[in-house]
Amino acid sequence: MNSINSAKDLDLKKIIANLKRKNRSRNWRRIKFGNVFLAMGLPLFLYLMLHLFSTPATAKVNPPEKPVELGAFEIIIPTLKYGFALDTFQIQEGVIEHNQFLADLLLPHRVDYLAIDKIARDNKAVFDVRNLRVGKTYTILSRDTAVGADYFIYEPSVYRYFVFDLRSDHRIREVERPIETRVEHAAGVVNSSLWVTMTQNGYSPDLTARMEDALAWSIDFHHIQKGDRFKLVYERNYIDGQAVGVGKIHAAHYQNLGKDYYAIRYENERHDGFYDLEARPMERAFLKAPVKYSRISSRYNLRRYHPVLKTMRPHFGTDYAAPRGTPIYAVADGVVTKASRTRGNGNYVKIKHDKVYQTQYLHMQRHAKGIRPGVHVKQGEVIGYVGSTGLATGPHVCFRFWKNGRQVNHLRENLPPPEPMPEAEIPAFEKIRDTLKATLDAIVYPESSRTTEEQKEIPKGDVPEEENPPATKEDAVSDTDPVRESSRAVAG
Ligand SMILES: [Zn+2]
Repeated sequence: MNSINSAKDLDLKKIIANLKRKNRSRNWRRIKFGNVFLAMGLPLFLYLMLHLFSTPATAKVNPPEKPVELGAFEIIIPTLKYGFALDTFQIQEGVIEHNQFLADLLLPHRVDYLAIDKIARDNKAVFDVRNLRVGKTYTILSRDTAVGADYFIYEPSVYRYFVFDLRSDHRIREVERPIETRVEHAAGVVNSSLWVTMTQNGYSPDLTARMEDALAWSIDFHHIQKGDRFKLVYERNYIDGQAVGVGKIHAAHYQNLGKDYYAIRYENERHDGFYDLEARPMERAFLKAPVKYSRISSRYNLRRYHPVLKTMRPHFGTDYAAPRGTPIYAVADGVVTKASRTRGNGNYVKIKHDKVYQTQYLHMQRHAKGIRPGVHVKQGEVIGYVGSTGLATGPHVCFRFWKNGRQVNHLRENLPPPEPMPEAEIPAFEKIRDTLKATLDAIVYPESSRTTEEQKEIPKGDVPEEENPPATKEDAVSDTDPVRESSRAVAG
């Protein structure tokens, strides 16, 4: 009995001890779980909380759509160019050379052929890589030269550039630089040629060209004189504070042999052109010459003494000598009737303007693109380039003016007047005219041009022609048989 009891007692003790042990281990497990929660769950919780709060702050710095690129920040610092902070890149700048293609430029910078090919093919609409021009600048940006170039930048003009993304998306994007336009003044006194005067006064060839455009219908720039004066109100374009070019002429004043000429620009939705002070249009149906910046090397002359043939031979055209390749303009709107080549004329173009007038341009280096019979041309449109094809030994255009099938001297013709300004427009024009005239009158001629004028010995006569002696021989040879040439043209 006792043994049984003791045995039972022992069993009971074992059970109790077992129960206690189980309880303890359950507690232990509970403690362990709590520890695990503290050890792992809390940091995770904190981590998540931290992220929830920190995300908006990070988004301000990182554009969400693109991973942050240090070089792509738009920060205004002195080394910022093409929208990149150049300090963060290795930079190589260069000029496109002859027979240099995109691959030639990029392969040495560890951009592989596949990437170059992809860029070239995928971006044709934005930029055709075959259009890289000799003499234009490019820049290669590499963050790590061991890895390879990141960007290629091509700058065809100061007004715009193209950024090639070589690493991430292989896109080319065009960037136009913002242009600031300022209205400025110019003035000068002609002491030799107009070009020399303009240059001496620090004005660009562009401005000279624009002035000629504004006044081309009223002033024969082949006959400007020493002492002629000009004043201009015009637009000048700036990029990043640097003058990059000339814009519109607002007003021009030119004094030729003591006579005053004014050109006032008037533009709205319907008109854009130059008018004189009485609101008469300055533009004519015909330009005075088919080439700019040229000189007349031989005039229309029915009794020209031929220096080679030693006889009197008529010259039915006016020769304008100009450098090879100078653009030749259609002097009026019309339809091309001929664009071909003969032994005497060389490459030439003939244009029919109306029932009465036709013009013809000889000895071209080549016709302009698209110029062929039946094509309509506008006044001032380029129809070809100065050359010396046919019977000519030097570059010039022989300009022929036809009236009712006969060749006449266009410099003596009273050509049809332009359309007058509508009456309703005149009050608006007069307001603009008064403001611009007052501005012109207030411009002072520069001191330097007067000094130069006094100091310099000026040869007599037509100064621009004196500077470049007439090429008599060339002109003589160019029209060896003008009678035959003209009769052939009449027949044609
Ligand atoms: Zn000629």
